[in-house]
Amino acid sequence: MNYRCSGLQLAHSLRGMSRHRCAKWGVAQLRTLCGGGLPGHQSSALLSTNKHGCAQVSSESRESIVGTYAVKRKELIPEASPPSDHDLRDLYRFVEESQNLVVVTGAGISTESGIPDYRSPNGAYSSGFKPITHQEFLRTAATRRRYWARSYAGWRQFMAAEPGPTHRALAQLESKGRVMRIITQNVDRLHHRAGSTNAIELHGTTHRVFCLGCGELTDRHKFQQRVCDLNPDWAAAVEALEKGEPGSDASFGMKQRPDGDIEIDSRFFQEDFLVPACEQCGGVLKPDVVFFGDNVPKARAEEAMELVMSSDAVLAVGSSLTVMSVFRLIRAAIERGSPVGIVNIGPTRADELASLKIEARSGEVLSRLLTMGSLAI
Ligand SMILES: [Zn+2]
Repeated sequence: MNYRCSGLQLAHSLRGMSRHRCAKWGVAQLRTLCGGGLPGHQSSALLSTNKHGCAQVSSESRESIVGTYAVKRKELIPEASPPSDHDLRDLYRFVEESQNLVVVTGAGISTESGIPDYRSPNGAYSSGFKPITHQEFLRTAATRRRYWARSYAGWRQFMAAEPGPTHRALAQLESKGRVMRIITQNVDRLHHRAGSTNAIELHGTTHRVFCLGCGELTDRHKFQQRVCDLNPDWAAAVEALEKGEPGSDASFGMKQRPDGDIEIDSRFFQEDFLVPACEQCGGVLKPDVVFFGDNVPKARAEEAMELVMSSDAVLAVGSSLTVMSVFRLIRAAIERGSPVGIVNIGPTRADELASLKIEARSGEVLSRLLTMGSLAI
């Protein structure tokens, strides 16, 4: 076969192969289909390359990805009634009366940016997603190859997400001195991009890579470049194929996940994918994210706890407060007599402890809050 590959043609070819239950789909096969090497097949108008010849997201491609998010966004945000005037007045009073308000945020606020949460009806768990655990990541090199191959592809979609109305409203409240500081469970860095200056990322961030050997931290963009340099065919294949509808073969069957991971159908996975090692010590690299089964680093957990202990109220937004690393903060606030407010669609672990609970979309709640009284902008 000697295909002149466009992403679409390649997708059609892959679709044909999938009917034959082609379980493992490596670059060697891709190369065969394409008649001799993917890097040369850059017919997609959206593809651009850097000085190393590695694919980058063009502005047009970025718009295309963002457009996809706009379609997905509606599905990802759980249904909820608008907040009542009574709820909004209570929240206004809650914020107004606090001098040192700490806000705790979770994955629910980033659904408005196209990143799914875990536990809501349309969240990642609803489609059977099982996030990688710390122990699984450590166990075998094969697991890490699979993780990084998927994560490389998913990173660019993650990067295309923009801060949503909740991120922006919280940044406004912070700039007006009404929010002392944010503690987030999210790893997407959208608070920073919205303008919040000093959010504590309790569970780390996908924007850094961490060496398990020497502790060296590397910027994720640099790591992505190293992956691309080591796996140019994979990088080009990702660039060529991800233009399809979400979930289709043309997108590798990719589904974005809240921790920056994505799913790629196993038939697309590349066995000979190479993972860069630490440049300082040759150690194993992992995203600077607290995977399930691991603990929040002690210093960071203590910093978050000290912040809560110095606050006079805590507002939790977009979190079911299920995981212990964040529930313990809420419990500590209650134990010291601080009021806790919750804005979340669906039950949370702290509903019985809260003095205020609003079940509505956080973006709508906080945007309307910014039109009220002394908080108006
Ligand atoms: Zn190292």
